[in-house]
Amino acid sequence: MIPITSIISRETNNFPLLVAGPCGAESKGQVFETARLLSETKLVKLFRCGVWKPRSSPNSFDGAGEEALIWLKEIESQYSLLPCVEIATSQHLEKAYKMGITHYWIGARTSVNPFAVQELADSCKGLDVAVMIKNPVSPDLQLWYGNFERFAKVGTSRMAAVYRGFSTGKRQLYRYDPMWQMLIDFKQLYKEIPVFCDPSHLAGNREYVQEIAQKALFLNVDGLMIETHVNPAAALSDKTQQLSVSDFEQMINRLIIPSQKQIKSSRLEKYREEIDIVDNQIFELLSQRFEISKQIAVFKKENNIPILQIERWEEICKKRLSQAKGLGISAEFAEAFLKLLHEASIRKQEKTMMV
Ligand code: PEP
Ligand code: MN
Repeated sequence: MIPITSIISRETNNFPLLVAGPCGAESKGQVFETARLLSETKLVKLFRCGVWKPRSSPNSFDGAGEEALIWLKEIESQYSLLPCVEIATSQHLEKAYKMGITHYWIGARTSVNPFAVQELADSCKGLDVAVMIKNPVSPDLQLWYGNFERFAKVGTSRMAAVYRGFSTGKRQLYRYDPMWQMLIDFKQLYKEIPVFCDPSHLAGNREYVQEIAQKALFLNVDGLMIETHVNPAAALSDKTQQLSVSDFEQMINRLIIPSQKQIKSSRLEKYREEIDIVDNQIFELLSQRFEISKQIAVFKKENNIPILQIERWEEICKKRLSQAKGLGISAEFAEAFLKLLHEASIRKQEKTMMV
């Protein structure tokens, strides 16, 4: 367990911490107007604004740079929003810190690089700063956690994780693969770290920001980081995913915010007991199935036939998928489950066949 405290010193009641602001600083007018409108909503604690943007192409707009730090400092005093910027190099950190900006995030492209993160952590030594660390672009939870350890070692304790999905090459509806189980695994492994979600980058499209934010809240995240722009259609980066401030406000008001209250209820207890009974039966049946599978392996060995019998596998899929349909079990789940089961059976049969 590494020592972690809240990212901001103010108490946050039941509401998730909201971090909002533009993808990048484009002009003084754009940054100020976005901040002014956001401050009017009274929803936002931290004002995010990328001053140096990590872009895929060197020809893309890459942020207004150092001069934007002055705008952010002015915004802090004028609108009482705490500015935070992305830092990717120790020069970024030094420039931002010198300007009095003490809240940062580490982007997904930096968080994948232990050398870069170590350099940032070393530069933060002895400074009173807060750091949000996005998940690395690749789905590697230990690598992500290692970043927190690097900062903890130099004495940074105000930290939070920001979940923004992964590059897995499996682009479906969203820009990145949500891999929600990874968020659950992270929370389970590293209970001490508060987790925020960045639905904007995960979605890559403003149409899905609300549903992703809602899914993340149902997984009990502690905060949301959302890209907002005074005029998204004219944004110089991440144009498709940024929300106007009024859309942002509407979206937040539509979200269901789960309560943090610990509820003790005999009704819930009873349901959980029922689930335990069913799970127990499922496991008993699985064990029976593996036993039969072993007997089949003995037969296959005696007759020297391959483990994989593709016609039989097809027959199993057909039967169960049609049963699943009738039972209201999704085809996606049934297929994934059958594959897992079949693969486990093959592994078991290999053991019997090889001795
Ligand atoms: C960002 O937040 O501006 C950003 C570049 O996000 P990510 O590192 O998650 O891609
Ligand atoms: Mn962005």
